[in-house]
Amino acid sequence: MEQERFDLPQLGQDPSRTYRLGIMGGTFDPIHNGHLVAAEQAYDDLNLDLVVFMPAGSPAFKQGKKIASGEDRYAMTLLATSDNPHFVASRFEVDRPGITYTSETLRLLKEHYPQNVELYFITGADAIADIVRWNNSASIAENATLVGATRPGYNLDKAAGAIDSSGIDFHVIYLEVPALAISSSYLRERVAKGQSLRYLTPDSVTGYLHKHQLYGAKAGKYAR
Ligand code: ATP
Ligand code: MG
Repeated sequence: MEQERFDLPQLGQDPSRTYRLGIMGGTFDPIHNGHLVAAEQAYDDLNLDLVVFMPAGSPAFKQGKKIASGEDRYAMTLLATSDNPHFVASRFEVDRPGITYTSETLRLLKEHYPQNVELYFITGADAIADIVRWNNSASIAENATLVGATRPGYNLDKAAGAIDSSGIDFHVIYLEVPALAISSSYLRERVAKGQSLRYLTPDSVTGYLHKHQLYGAKAGKYAR
C-alpha cells in the first residue's frame, strides 16, 4: 500500500497484548490547546498507547472554505505535539489526494495495523452528533471506538439521540474535558485583530503562523 511509506507509528509488535491507538483528526487550522488537552486526557483516561494527530487533507465539510495549506497545518501540528512523547503528528491524511473521509482513514489504518491494535477516534462531542451523517458511518462504527470530548455548554442528549436513531452500533465513550471553549475560529479571529494567542496554543504555533503570515497575522505583532 502506497501509504505504508508514510509516517505511521509502529504498534502491535507483541501479539500477546492489545494496543490502543488514539486518532485525533481535525482541520487543525490552527491546532490549539483544546485539541491538545482533549487528546492528552483521552490518552490518560483510556490508557491509550499513543495519539496520532492527523490534519485533514481536504475536509469534506470545509469544501469551498478558505483554509491554510496542508503543509502549514501539518507543520503547526508537528510543532505543537513535538514535546509530548506519546503524541505523534502524521501526514497520513494530508498526503491523501481528494476529499478526506474519516471512514477511509480508519479503514486504511485497520488494514495497516495487526489485529491487536484497537482504534479510538477522538472528536469533540459536538461532532459526534454529526458523525452518523458522515460518509460511510457504518464503517466508522465497525473500525473504531468513538471518544467524544465534551465541550462546555454542550448537551450530550443531542449526540446520544443522533447515535440512538442511527440504527448503527456505535461504541462511544464520552470524556469530560474541563472548560475549554477554545476553537480554531476564535484563534483566527484573534490573529487577524493582532491579539495575543498566548496560553491558547503553544508558542511555537504562534511563532509559525506569524512567520508565515497566516490568518492575516500582522508582521511582528505577538510574533516571537
Ligand atoms: P473551527 O473553529 O475552525 O471549527 P475547531 O477548533 O473546531 O476549528 P477542528 O480542527 O475543527 O477545530 O477540530 C478537530 C477536532 O477537535 C474536532 O473533533 C473538534 O470537535 C475537536 N475540538 C475542537 N476544539 C476542541 C476543544 N476546545 N475541546 C475539545 N475538543 C475540541
Ligand atoms: Mg470545528
